Amino acid sequence: MQVITQVKELRETMQALRCAGKSIGFVPTMGALHEGHLQLLRASVKDNDITVCSIFVNPTQFNNADDYKLYPRTLDADIELLETTGCDFIFSPSPEDIYPQQTMLQFSFGKLEQVMEGEHRPGHFNGVATIVGKLFNMVQPHKAYFGQKDLQQVAVVRQLILGVGFNIELVCYPTVRETDGLAMSSRNTRLNTDQRETAVSLHQALEQARKQLGQQSIESIKASVTDYLQHKPEVELEYFEIADPLTLQPLSTLTGVQEVALCIAAHVGPVRLIDNLVVNLSEV
Ligand code: AMP
Repeated sequence: MQVITQVKELRETMQALRCAGKSIGFVPTMGALHEGHLQLLRASVKDNDITVCSIFVNPTQFNNADDYKLYPRTLDADIELLETTGCDFIFSPSPEDIYPQQTMLQFSFGKLEQVMEGEHRPGHFNGVATIVGKLFNMVQPHKAYFGQKDLQQVAVVRQLILGVGFNIELVCYPTVRETDGLAMSSRNTRLNTDQRETAVSLHQALEQARKQLGQQSIESIKASVTDYLQHKPEVELEYFEIADPLTLQPLSTLTGVQEVALCIAAHVGPVRLIDNLVVNLSEV
């Protein structure tokens, strides 16, 4: 496995591999790797001749300065973990190399970015589209791997690929969870013991909502999620939505609907966490 830190070297290396007929899989990450990331890497290693993992805490997608500053950075441990996956290249660039000038790019994803993460983190998806677009252009992979944990991000990347015309197959893998159900996240390492214990209530709220899907209205499911989390110490609900899994638009009725995404964002102590479940209504 080789660590590349310069954009120029990455471009030259990828170009040579493409010319040699190698298929390239790409897993973009912000590091502090866990099993959720490793699942994507293993899939890429299995599907492609060459796998590239980028580790870059992208400043333009953070709308909160503290969140950026405190985001865990564990490059040495990440390299050790990646060695176990069969990954071929780590791309770990500096912000200056990625952003030689302040970016002026503006993406618009219409209604997709006016709800949930888009609504609550202004500018976030513009930053995501900017970095994913740049990395796609630098690596030019055949396939790119993303996690359902960031469902709205997957929808944005799908639109980016279609809109720009990247010749890249988007592959999405399910959310990997801790044994108690908490969705794995690099930000979980910032939770203290008590907060870690209560953080699982996000997943429990989603499971409770899933059970109510067949029996209750959207309004009453939303009310019971709010009520459930109100009693959890240090948990502050930001949103809970029942949405279309592809467009992410909130639904007002379940009549005639096949699949829904239950999406949640909440602060647990100082850490903002998100989670979701995609549920087929014929199975509830
Ligand atoms: P991040 O490093 O948080 O930007 O995540 C990099 C990629 O890993 C994104 O496609 C995420 O959706 C995915 N990912 C993060 N956590 C999980 C998880 N618990 N399960 C599955 N995929 C995940």
